[in-house]
Amino acid sequence: MSDFFRITALDAHYGDFQALYGLNLHLEPGEVVAIIGANGAGKTTLMRSVSGLLRNRAEAVRWKGREIGALRADQVAALGIALVPEGRQLFPSLSVEENLLIGGQLGRKGPWNLRRLYDLFPILEERRAVPATALSGGQQQMVAIGRALMSNPELIMMDEISLGLAPVIIRQIYEALPGIVGEGMAAIIVEQDISKALSVSRRLYCLQEGRVSLEGASETVSRDEIARAYFGV
Ligand code: ATP
Repeated sequence: MSDFFRITALDAHYGDFQALYGLNLHLEPGEVVAIIGANGAGKTTLMRSVSGLLRNRAEAVRWKGREIGALRADQVAALGIALVPEGRQLFPSLSVEENLLIGGQLGRKGPWNLRRLYDLFPILEERRAVPATALSGGQQQMVAIGRALMSNPELIMMDEISLGLAPVIIRQIYEALPGIVGEGMAAIIVEQDISKALSVSRRLYCLQEGRVSLEGASETVSRDEIARAYFGV
């Protein structure tokens, strides 16, 4: 195992409520890992913990040998870890292109720029000058993904990117994934749709009430194992 990305004994709390318990997870360069689990299992809390929106013990998250668990969100982003947050969280008063350019402000070098992004999602070039909130939900999700890519991350984390979108749009977004990951970029994908999660990932983790209830290769885990890990039945 490399020291690319590793979470060790991660706990998370909201006040007195404990949302994550001793979570362990690792990722290799270029690897796509899916996180599945029922509502409230702790998936978003995990994303927030890694991205610095919730702070932890420094040693709970290691990135290329460095302890980053206690860093702020801007410091984590500058190291090349980008989050596509649940609910997109675009800037409503800014245009599509302005939202995308915000991702580029970190000034990280890499393959992603506006040109390449518009080639990936041509509709965004057509609509570049309109306010981001004038777009459909699917198009807004493309902007949220694009904004993350513009920071040229080495790890992109996507939190329920298909939530509330039409199946045709979900397919379009997932078809774009192979063109996004690879070239050394790894991904953690939080997904409610288990078939989608399995089809895009090499390995998966299932969370249940803040704990990892299953970890395995996406190709070989059985539906029964997943059902047990997901619902605890
Ligand atoms: P969903 O699919 O509904 O987004 P999730 O797996 O992402 O679920 P989290 O959002 O991480 O789950 O929530 C984990 C637990 O932490 C839940 O019990 C939730 O109620 C609780 N929780 C989440 N955010 C907060 C908060 N800001 N304050 C208090 N409790 C919270």
